[in-house]
Amino acid sequence: MRTGIVYHTDYLLHEQRPKHPERRERIAYTLDLLDEEEIWEEPGIKKIEPRMATEDEVLAAHNEVYFNYLTGIDKKGADIDINTYGPPGFLKGALLSAGGAVCAAEAVFSREVRNAFALVRPPGHHAGRSFGGGFCYLNNVAIMVRAVQNSGYKRVMIIDWDAHHGNGTEDIFYEDPDVLYTSVHQSSLFPGTGPVKDAGYGEGKGLNINMPVPPGSSDNVYRYLMEEVIIPAGEEFRPDFIAISAGQDNHFTDPLTSLALTARGYADMMSEAVALSDKLCNGRLTAVLEGGYGVEGALPYVNLAIIASLAGLDLSGIREPASYEPLLRYEVNDKALEITKKMVSKLKKVHSDYWNFI
Ligand SMILES: [Zn+2]
Repeated sequence: MRTGIVYHTDYLLHEQRPKHPERRERIAYTLDLLDEEEIWEEPGIKKIEPRMATEDEVLAAHNEVYFNYLTGIDKKGADIDINTYGPPGFLKGALLSAGGAVCAAEAVFSREVRNAFALVRPPGHHAGRSFGGGFCYLNNVAIMVRAVQNSGYKRVMIIDWDAHHGNGTEDIFYEDPDVLYTSVHQSSLFPGTGPVKDAGYGEGKGLNINMPVPPGSSDNVYRYLMEEVIIPAGEEFRPDFIAISAGQDNHFTDPLTSLALTARGYADMMSEAVALSDKLCNGRLTAVLEGGYGVEGALPYVNLAIIASLAGLDLSGIREPASYEPLLRYEVNDKALEITKKMVSKLKKVHSDYWNFI
């Protein structure tokens, strides 16, 4: 079985304003590297054409008032928040991004591919039921998850490892008894949400697991959280499908954040997620690109690492150019694991009533 990559040249069209970090080079540089590495010629890789998400698919995650607002500002353009401008005609790109995520999941469920990576933009995880922001208009992962649920596979686990907390995704699934949302994010970064104590509400109580980590957290911190929290929670929850909000802005070269994950760290984390999906849900897993703004030093290598892990390719050569190594040494915080262990003991107190693995 192959790994699907959803991609369309129209993903290069969206531009908020010149020099905005969420720019077309994020994907263009990745494509250059994928061409260089002859990824499209790999027998284990299949390119998937996206389509735009339908209104019904959008309204399964967002409310009508918000969608009407987006439709209303689409013609002339408008600022959605201080960092997010919707230029005229932006909605088409947002719908193609969300539709790309839906197509990735459809290809996985039809067994056309084993798993898939939606290489889409604009990103989505800061868009909630009734709001956008943080470079996001529509929540691609949430729209995909609702489409999967509406096709009959109710239980979904979301692993959100973007450096920023996915406040939009949390908002959409906060009371959902069938969606486990897990987020690892840099503490106190935009949008300022995501404390350990926010654990879900009503029937969704215990199914929102927030893991804020300190600046300088590197591969060992993410490995620890996968093994100590994310994998055991997944094994106990037993999802039908695993969705990954694959933000690549926790890479040590990212200009907007202060985390220190390496391309190899991403590859290992994705390999663990793939192994979890094999164990729990017949390998059904889709990763959707979220943030990531180190267009030269990070994104191409991290995206390649993720694709290689999904496809089970050789990971031994996955690394950034050696010239970036001094920066990695500068970014890593040796105390990060110790601080994270304290955070996890607090998390276990918050979640002890809801989980047997704790
Ligand atoms: Zn981010």
